[in-house]
Amino acid sequence: MTAKLIDGVAVAQKIRDECRERVQRIIAQGGTPPGLAVIIVGSDPASQIYVRNKIRACANVGIKSFRFDYPADVSQDTVIDQIMQLNDDPAVHGILVQLPLPPTFDMSRILHSISADKDVDGFHLYNVGGLVVGGTVFPPCTPYGVLKLLEHEHITLEGKNVVVVGASNIVGKPMALMLMQHEATVCICHAKTRDLAQFTILADILVVAAGYPNLIQPEMVRTGAVVIDVGINRLSDGQLVGDVNFAGVVAKASYITPVPGGVGPMTVSMLLVNTITSCERWQQQNFVPIVKKFSSARAAT
Ligand code: NAP
Repeated sequence: MTAKLIDGVAVAQKIRDECRERVQRIIAQGGTPPGLAVIIVGSDPASQIYVRNKIRACANVGIKSFRFDYPADVSQDTVIDQIMQLNDDPAVHGILVQLPLPPTFDMSRILHSISADKDVDGFHLYNVGGLVVGGTVFPPCTPYGVLKLLEHEHITLEGKNVVVVGASNIVGKPMALMLMQHEATVCICHAKTRDLAQFTILADILVVAAGYPNLIQPEMVRTGAVVIDVGINRLSDGQLVGDVNFAGVVAKASYITPVPGGVGPMTVSMLLVNTITSCERWQQQNFVPIVKKFSSARAAT
């Protein structure tokens, strides 16, 4: 068996084309174009590249972007004041704080100061809660992208055994919750899991987001499984690889995502989708923002 490659570049492009049409529709109806504010603290080179890519992708579909750069020694209150202003700015429908933040920052305090109605990364407690009970407004972009890839390939989730390797707040946990919403039977593994292979071998669909090259070897994968590799690892020779031994697993799986070119391109596309969704929500008649009370992090501290 040779797995079918899931082409994340093509699916992401299709989603961006749909985004462009949605933006044109908003403008044709006399609405304010979608706006995304991006806050970056410090000069981490990878973060600079990610932010540049996000801003370029916004321009490509007609989303306005507003970039705010701060030095690593900026005070936390300065950043929170900026977020508060953006929470009230009608030209801004999405606010994103690029992670990681400098270690002196209280990440959750920053993230929870973003209005849940503009939380296009889906990290606010309100939106995380929505993942648990169903009906989140903004699904986190990377797991949302994984679901879109599966949907594109007509891979159904109901009743499937899905194993998620990795339990971070931004990928593994929301991924597992979203899969549960789709009625999969979900198992979450993490760094303390004993004998990882005894779980992964049961997976009809294996989603790997550990940040550990070659973690998943062919003998850990059931023949015919769907393998989604979220990991992005830069090897010492500069090569970019996922968490899965691609050369080995491609001969055993039915579908597999390559790295690069699999999940990666989807993440930015889903950010565009969330930003446009937010814009459309704000422009609905009778729109009532979800939670002013959740955006008062500064006052509470
Ligand atoms: P993270 O915060 O470091 O979390 C890694 C998770 O993997 C943790 O839950 C950890 O377990 C678990 N883990 C680590 N080593 C393991 C092992 N040997 N066996 C089983 N589980 C293990 O990382 P993240 O932000 O979730 O990102 C994970 C990977 O996805 C990284 O390579 C990252 O670059 C990539 N990523 C890609 C995209 C994209 O757009 N494609 C987006 C985000 C992240 P513990 O909880 O026990 O520590």
